Amino acid sequence: MKRVYTFGDGKAEGNAEMRNLLGGKGANLAEMNLLGMPVPPGFTITTEVCNEYTLNGSESVVKLIQEEVEAAIAHVETLTGKKFNDPANPLLVSVRSGARASMPGMMDTVLNLGMNDATVASLAEKSGNPRFAWDSYRRFVQMYGDVVLGMKPKSKADIDPFEEIMDKVKAEKGVKLDTELDVEDLQNLVKLFKAAVKDFTGKDFPDSAWEQLWGGICAVFDSWMNERAILYRRMNQIPEEWGTAVNVQAMVYGNMGDNSATGVAFSRDAATGENIFNGEYLINAQGEDVVAGIRTPQQITVEGSRRWAALQGITEEERVEKYPSLEESMPVCAAELIAIANRLENYYKDMQDMEFTIQDGKLWMLQTRNGKRTGAAMVKIAMDLLRAGEIDEKTTLLRMEPQKLDELLHPVFDKAALKRANVVAKGLPASPGAAAGQIVFSAEEAEAWSEKKKKVVLVRIETSPEDLRGMAVAQGILTMRGGMTSHAAVVARGMGKCCVSGAGEIKVDYKAKTVEMGGKVYNEGDWISLNGSTGEVYDGQVPTAEPELGGDFGAIMNLAAKYTKTLVRTNADTPRDAKQARHFGAQGIGLCRTEHMFFEGDRIKAVREMILASDVEGRRHALDKLLPMQRSDFEGIFEAMDGFGVTIRLLDPPLHEFVPHQTATQKELANEMGLTLEEVKAKVDSLEEFNPMLGHRGCRLGITYPEITEMQTRAIIEAALNMKARGIKVFPEIMIPLVGTLKEIQNQADVINITASKVFEERGESVAYKVGTMIEVPRAALTADQIATVADFFSFGTNDLTQMTFGYSRDDAPKFLKFYKEHGIIKTDPFEVLDQEGVGQLVRMGVEKGRATKPELKVGICGEHGGEPSSVKFCAKLGMNYVSCSPYRVPIARVAAAQAAIED
Ligand code: PEP
Ligand code: MG
Repeated sequence: MKRVYTFGDGKAEGNAEMRNLLGGKGANLAEMNLLGMPVPPGFTITTEVCNEYTLNGSESVVKLIQEEVEAAIAHVETLTGKKFNDPANPLLVSVRSGARASMPGMMDTVLNLGMNDATVASLAEKSGNPRFAWDSYRRFVQMYGDVVLGMKPKSKADIDPFEEIMDKVKAEKGVKLDTELDVEDLQNLVKLFKAAVKDFTGKDFPDSAWEQLWGGICAVFDSWMNERAILYRRMNQIPEEWGTAVNVQAMVYGNMGDNSATGVAFSRDAATGENIFNGEYLINAQGEDVVAGIRTPQQITVEGSRRWAALQGITEEERVEKYPSLEESMPVCAAELIAIANRLENYYKDMQDMEFTIQDGKLWMLQTRNGKRTGAAMVKIAMDLLRAGEIDEKTTLLRMEPQKLDELLHPVFDKAALKRANVVAKGLPASPGAAAGQIVFSAEEAEAWSEKKKKVVLVRIETSPEDLRGMAVAQGILTMRGGMTSHAAVVARGMGKCCVSGAGEIKVDYKAKTVEMGGKVYNEGDWISLNGSTGEVYDGQVPTAEPELGGDFGAIMNLAAKYTKTLVRTNADTPRDAKQARHFGAQGIGLCRTEHMFFEGDRIKAVREMILASDVEGRRHALDKLLPMQRSDFEGIFEAMDGFGVTIRLLDPPLHEFVPHQTATQKELANEMGLTLEEVKAKVDSLEEFNPMLGHRGCRLGITYPEITEMQTRAIIEAALNMKARGIKVFPEIMIPLVGTLKEIQNQADVINITASKVFEERGESVAYKVGTMIEVPRAALTADQIATVADFFSFGTNDLTQMTFGYSRDDAPKFLKFYKEHGIIKTDPFEVLDQEGVGQLVRMGVEKGRATKPELKVGICGEHGGEPSSVKFCAKLGMNYVSCSPYRVPIARVAAAQAAIED
């Protein structure tokens, strides 16, 4: 088994196809070599080794790969003409992680590896820049101490021991910036850093380059299992088994002086998708300086630089002098970079996100990958590439991350309100969208407030990977420092979250919990609003409006319609929701929960009267009052869904949900009904159940109180006839909930059919209708062949099916599921993502058994999973006729369903 793959000088043992084995970075480094691009030579240790490492530990893995790593280092030595561990002509390397999916900033990196007291002298002499050499050395000791030797503080409240020393040295010297330290200071720092290492570890700092290398490699493998990485994987559904590769590469330096630089570039605009090459760089800096947001990065192109300056209110003169573009400062390298970007995009046929370093006037490519982008950019880039003939229709659809379409569907600021709103600060439009929320200053507060259902905007000087959880729950993120490629910007875009970064003029004070903007001091809890598309920050809560869906979105939807084999219906209980869903392309209603109508207006009174009635007569009397209201609701829904099927479910929840539990309201009810308070209390008490989700609900209600089924059937059929008379095409489907046995469905189907016949007779006309059932009790799936003898259709209620298969109460599960997730007991919440392995078996069995009895049986899903991409794909691959989901998830489900058809 080959475990190490080398690359360099136009040759590589790997290639872009070997992403799973070499990780994204490793595969693309190999490919860039094959494309003849300037890449520092190096090698990749495979992701499989990471799994061996997790399983067997460092000692056994080092033995396993030692020979191959030594040979690979020799290969790099040959190509660079340098020697590892050689004081005269030292080879220095970087050690970086690189998983199959990009996980920005989540794992560890060590740079400048191979430095010691001897090699630093040689580096100083060769570069003619002793300050650079010693600065690299002190950075290395610090990074190695933090990452490999475990000196990085575990909590944010603690100070990095090296930073502490650095601050002390600067204070003693009376300077503020690192750059004000001279060679002697840096030499002193290295000494102090090493002493701190000895204090902490009890051992001397390792001088041997080989020892350093093994430490670095193991640290990267270890970081695959660090808390941040685990959390990120969970949020992005990246399996632990994928592992990370380790990339070891000859160092190139962007901090060798004013003829050196480092930066990040995108072949298209990651926020809007426009075909505009863009990027940022810093002169005389190392990679992490760009991302850390400590210095303000400059733009690569002249055009971008001018636009940036205009946003910042910087004059052209000042721009050219202080912030020139790379095209202006290093025109030859800029031209080469742009040519490479074009070639890479043409090769990968997708937007590229590249990292580069310029060492003493020579350009080196350090990475390329398909760039992360916003939902809007995802749609635009794919459609532009399709129109340019670069990719075909199927590829265009497969380029969609269905969940990201969500960003296009969510509200933007109300235009009128926005005109009146007060801009109090301006930053970079780091990630588009609109957000309004109450200010919090830490990720912890963001989590605590959002748990109390409060909307928050996370305001930080800058963000780091530790802030991930807080960013995930915030409406938006505002940072004082950092460019378009800062941590905040990159992570927010990945999350599809509104973010304004680098709002330099705001003053954040963590201690006082205040932020000063536009001459006003804001405290924790004050409302602000962010426009992530313009970078503007507004005072107060600016109302939002529905987004306008552009032509490209429509084009994607049309493509989805062309390739899908599965229809998408919607779960809607009102004509308004039904219309919204149709607008998004829903073809019918898969679930109308009739009980939701029971709470509107005066209806609840009639519902309560029915529940409190002591006999059938009393119940019928109350149901007569409900009938016209239900009928008119159904009419509205039939009208909105003209031409499509509408599945209406009979009453499902336990009756206690409809009666008041407080004495004051019970008193009111007693007065209205002419009952005593005691009588009302007694009835409410009698409805009390220990486990209402498994109690008197679903078809159990209709079976014990058939008059409810009669009334609802009458309302549905009469509404259908009324609408038919108006020329509307109606396809009513009556759905019986919580069926578990053949007898149950037979009982209710009889009541429905008898009632419908009665109505037809009364009216002297008829309408075609279907009778079907939810499959949401495990026994229904197990006996689906019997149930299908009666049912015209099945609709999988995977909410209840999940509840009853796992035995997790839908209402109480969140309490322990959070813990379960954090401790790896479950990967995803089964109420969110269908458990294909377990619940999925019942679904499969239900479909197969049902269709064995009745091949034409119509089958769909209407649980929450009907709008979750992986679950949609599962259902589509089982051959379901449709999935049904809430209106705003309809586009997501449509694309996921089309992808399933293409992947098949
Ligand atoms: C279900 O159980 O999946 C379902 C759709 O019904 P409800 O959520 O109303 O119980
Ligand atoms: Mg249910």
